[in-house]
Amino acid sequence: MSVAPSPTVDLDHRFARDLPEMAVAWQAEAAPDPHLVVLDEALAADLGLDPAWLRTPEGVRLLVGAEVPPGARPVAQAYSGHQFGGFSPRLGDGRALLLGEVVTPDGRVRDLHLKGSGRTPFARGGDGLAALGPMLREHVISQAMHALGVPTTRALAVVATGRTVLRETPLPGAVLARVAASHLRVGSVQYARATGDAELLRRLADHAIRRHHPQAAEAEHPHLALFEAVVAVQAQLVARWMLVGFIHGVMNTDNTTLSGETIDYGPCAFLDAYDPSTVYSSIDTGGRYAYGNQPLVLEWNLARLAEAMLPLFDEDEDRAVELAVAALGRFRPQYDAALADGLRAKLGLRPDADAALGEELLALLEAGRADLTQTFRALGVAARGDTGPVRELLGATPAVDAWLGRWLAAGPDADAMDRVNPVVVPRNHLVEEALAAATAGDLAPFERLLDAVSRPFEARAGLERYAAPAPPEFGASYRTFCGT
Ligand code: AMP
Ligand code: MG
Repeated sequence: MSVAPSPTVDLDHRFARDLPEMAVAWQAEAAPDPHLVVLDEALAADLGLDPAWLRTPEGVRLLVGAEVPPGARPVAQAYSGHQFGGFSPRLGDGRALLLGEVVTPDGRVRDLHLKGSGRTPFARGGDGLAALGPMLREHVISQAMHALGVPTTRALAVVATGRTVLRETPLPGAVLARVAASHLRVGSVQYARATGDAELLRRLADHAIRRHHPQAAEAEHPHLALFEAVVAVQAQLVARWMLVGFIHGVMNTDNTTLSGETIDYGPCAFLDAYDPSTVYSSIDTGGRYAYGNQPLVLEWNLARLAEAMLPLFDEDEDRAVELAVAALGRFRPQYDAALADGLRAKLGLRPDADAALGEELLALLEAGRADLTQTFRALGVAARGDTGPVRELLGATPAVDAWLGRWLAAGPDADAMDRVNPVVVPRNHLVEEALAAATAGDLAPFERLLDAVSRPFEARAGLERYAAPAPPEFGASYRTFCGT
């Protein structure tokens, strides 16, 4: 814990300093035989970290938390959360550590965080560990989301620990080094509120304002402005998920950030055929977190945030509730507008084009059980004059032809469409194939997939299979597991 691994890694500890009641000083468990599996060199460079150094034994020791720079104060963070609707007052980082905050060369503050680094006081029955497959899953999907332009935490590296992790079968263990705007969650605010310490709640809100929504500090009512800012970024975020066909799978309040970044890629998956009732997660038996429910669930999570923040809104509880309801009321219109704007862009239409064209297309996609990603690319081909591929996907019904006629009459811009409609998303069958191979020791399919999803808007020769939908057995019956 004492050797300086590199003069270039300077870790601040703003969270631990501002919110000591929510930070438990902790240390990573030793990794018997760590070796680097994947490193995002571009991200390392963005952070001001030297990728070549991160590949050295000292660098890898930082990436598993075995050696932290002098002055760093790794902590497990406390948070609460509503999980599938039920409140757990004390969740926290059971198998994760915040190593500290990095200030990037351009002045942004980023958490450097480990997942799978051993049991903490919040581990309850868990072993504190993570298996290689799920950590690589988070790596590749967060990279895909970033490349698709969706706000997300980032995966800096995955290090195999050399330890066997027991799940249904023995699996290779790994640690994910994750980078985020912060790890503040709705559940963090719920935790502060549940302590009954009004001053802690206020300090957390002020910390969140400084960290994510500094403009709120200028508002007449900064804490209400903070809530409104979280509503706004989350409305944008969930609209982006819907537009790319992303299903988070476990939208508990502890997995909903204040920053507006997507976090915690467990049982997440991408849609193939467009069907709002799609659920892939094996634990989501009620379909609470189905694709089409995501905006509603987000609104529900934001209502829980509002409840937790009530004492900050006004001393008078009725007045506080009134303010919260009004602020939360902005979620729907903001989400609807973000979705409509995104659909217009995907359809190559001007910002003032009729939003009904987008809504009607979604109905046609659902009726035809058409592949979401392929359909929008095929519409780009249609905008250039060939409606064959899209009629094949949607079904050549009179309703489809009538819609195509009206859309083409609005003059879609095919080049603009190709810039926003991906060719490649991390399709479930490709992710499973890559993770199974990696778990068995062959990283080549994972590296090819990572490359394919990193440039999602380019139709590249040789990568055709990354653009194709899943074979039928990966359709409705496909299940993801919670990624522990
Ligand atoms: P997640 O579903 O990964 O967001 O985790 C929900 C909660 O369970 C968090 O408090 C995690 O830290 C904890 N958790 C998940 N997996 C493990 C594990 N293997 N060991 C200890 N805690 C875990
Ligand atoms: Mg989580």
